[in-house]
Amino acid sequence: MENLHQLKQLQKLYRYRALEIAYFDEPKEVKMSDTPAMRLPNQMDALRKMVFSCSLCGLSKSRKNVVFGEGNESAQIMFVGEGPGAVEDQTGRPFVGKSGQLLTKIIETTLECKREDVYIANIVKCRPPLNRAPDREEAQSCLPFLLRQIEMVDPQMIITLGATAYQYLTGDFERGISKIRGEVMHFGERLLVPTFHPSFLLRNPSAKRYVFNDMKKIKALLS
Ligand code: SF4
Repeated sequence: MENLHQLKQLQKLYRYRALEIAYFDEPKEVKMSDTPAMRLPNQMDALRKMVFSCSLCGLSKSRKNVVFGEGNESAQIMFVGEGPGAVEDQTGRPFVGKSGQLLTKIIETTLECKREDVYIANIVKCRPPLNRAPDREEAQSCLPFLLRQIEMVDPQMIITLGATAYQYLTGDFERGISKIRGEVMHFGERLLVPTFHPSFLLRNPSAKRYVFNDMKKIKALLS
């Protein structure tokens, strides 16, 4: 049975390689759900409740609020960012500061849908101090929650925002975001497209055109 699964994975890999599409398997080794003691709930409310009292990593000590994620729980598109910033930590909601306002605008103008139609989450659910990137241990501790959210929302398309989100979700630490931005990849059974983080766009407005192109590509893929 295991051999058959491996063979199928290999066939899939060769097919994607032939199409020049990168393939990443979902990182099963970090799924806490595989460990009976850490079994994760199958319902969003139960998972939210569990995460709200989480102290698996050091970020729990400095957070004001856990930022679980929000949006349409049956969304076609799921955005994954790096982690909450100051406004998100204050409000308990993802992407509501200046970058979030830009993300909302991008969603509305390029995907032509409402922010409420997509699902938005982060690699870590508690704010790293001074807005630093989460370290490996923090990301690994929190990733199972995100993977369970992905399973439950079951989006066709995951859009990672910025290098950190892409790297921790796919495990690909080799290629820079400028190189892989806009590439259509496979992440398990889903499509994944990395693009720039809105906070990068606030600092580099000329890069907005790349993200707009990525979004147009995504819209075309889903229609
Ligand atoms: S960042 Fe994630 S793993 Fe760390 S304490 Fe917060 S919810 Fe738990």
